[in-house]
Amino acid sequence: MGLQDITSRIEKACQAAERPVDSVSLIAVSKVQPNERVEAVLKEGHRIFGENRVQEAAGKWPAFREVFPAIELHLIGPLQSNKARQAFELFQSIHSVDRPKLAKTLARLAQEEGHCPNLFIQVNTGEEDQKAGIAPSETDAFVADCRSMDLPIEGLMCIPPIDEEPSLHFALLAKIAERNGLKGLSMGMSSDFESAIALGATHVRVGSAIFGARAYG
Ligand SMILES: *Cc1c(COP(=O)(O)O)cnc(C)c1O
Repeated sequence: MGLQDITSRIEKACQAAERPVDSVSLIAVSKVQPNERVEAVLKEGHRIFGENRVQEAAGKWPAFREVFPAIELHLIGPLQSNKARQAFELFQSIHSVDRPKLAKTLARLAQEEGHCPNLFIQVNTGEEDQKAGIAPSETDAFVADCRSMDLPIEGLMCIPPIDEEPSLHFALLAKIAERNGLKGLSMGMSSDFESAIALGATHVRVGSAIFGARAYG
């Protein structure tokens, strides 16, 4: 448990997979965590964090940014179109591009603002009704649509079904990314980031294993 422990486990997983250690970014998922815990991880020198709600991020990160330089924020939860402008201001990456309407909104904002966060397309690899994301069979076409709108698509993201072997989903996501020429793979959480790294993850999203259990969320 804790940042040091997760960092060394990531290093070991990279070595086992014969990958450079700097080929994996650790996104410390700070949603719902008390500010003291987040501040402790900032003081340890970590600068890459993930949040799943725009509102919550807007409430806590501007103050941290005044104290700690060069914080990189990743939005890993669903984005409503009416919060997209706010997300542009707060986040360097958005991992939840999950529908055509949102892609259009982001493209319009990118034009207006003259910049755009790095984007990941969320793929619903388990084809679960309750989960957001593009179906695997529709992802190639969606990637092409996003590219035709000049959106900076860095890669794909998935959240495997809780009751299935995650590595099958990681392998599927990697395959779809590869055939679309996408390098980024946002996959792997506290319980499975090592297997995600073995299958090519470039961004692992680890919350409770760094900060401790969440009160909710
Ligand atoms: C909360 C969350 C995580 C982190 O989950 P842990 O199991 O605490 O590591 C990762 N990805 C997404 C999309 C999340 O919402």
